[in-house]
Amino acid sequence: MEIPSIDDQIAVTDRMIEDRPDLSNPLELHKKILQAQRQVRESPKKGTDVDWDDKSIIDDLQRKAVRSGQPIASFLDPSIFDSKALLHTIGQVIGALIEKGVKEDWPKKFLDEVKRGETNILDLVGAAMKGDAEYFKRYGERFEVSPALILFIINSSIQPCLEEIAKRVDPSFLERWWKAPCPICGRRPMVAKLRARKRHLTCTLCGAVYLADLFLCVNCGNVDPYTLKFLAPEGHSEFRVDFCEKCKHYLKVIDENRLKSPIPRGLEDIMTIDLDLMAKRAGLIRA
Ligand SMILES: [Zn+2]
Ligand SMILES: [Zn+2]
Repeated sequence: MEIPSIDDQIAVTDRMIEDRPDLSNPLELHKKILQAQRQVRESPKKGTDVDWDDKSIIDDLQRKAVRSGQPIASFLDPSIFDSKALLHTIGQVIGALIEKGVKEDWPKKFLDEVKRGETNILDLVGAAMKGDAEYFKRYGERFEVSPALILFIINSSIQPCLEEIAKRVDPSFLERWWKAPCPICGRRPMVAKLRARKRHLTCTLCGAVYLADLFLCVNCGNVDPYTLKFLAPEGHSEFRVDFCEKCKHYLKVIDENRLKSPIPRGLEDIMTIDLDLMAKRAGLIRA
């Protein structure tokens, strides 16, 4: 899996904005986040002190993940990250969010606090890599801000590193994972691509594409086919929403054979926002 250059990704996003002006807001933000990540994305170590060309490092992480069933991110020590590079990206991401209309008082206070070291940036990164929702909930309560927003900012700063790992793992590792959370970063998938009747779960954070059972709720693990249903939008046979009657969560599915034009890598979640609206109207919950 190759990762296109930032400028190529931006050009592709611009074409999507022409196609779908109604999605220009989230697509513009996507472009700004790519720009914010430029320094780290264009550096070989992706904001860490790790030489990713050393195959033994990825091999070791893969082995640990397979043995434990836990994602690779849970074996990464946050101290591999370069605090200065993280702070740079976080500052840029916050700038992008403010340009897109997020009120500036909270993010500025947050950035100052992290810069002064009152909150250790590596603690935040460690919590993001472990998927520690409680940590972000407490942090959000203290700042009276949505935990999802803080997590978005931290995720954006570690995304280039996670993508690098996803790019380098063995294809067989992804094919044999067979669990719902992403094998690299541990996030629950929101999107899947249907290829040759197999549902390839697609991680919107690190870009990993991996396999799991076709009859599996990626939220609660339900495998009872009688309570796993789907919704199909009228006139769009290339899309559907798989959902679980037990927990009411859903997964957006893109049938690649039926797509008129391919959805660019990294834009799967944004280009299927219509499906989120349909799911919401049906009373379903986004993870
Ligand atoms: Zn992932
Ligand atoms: Zn479920």
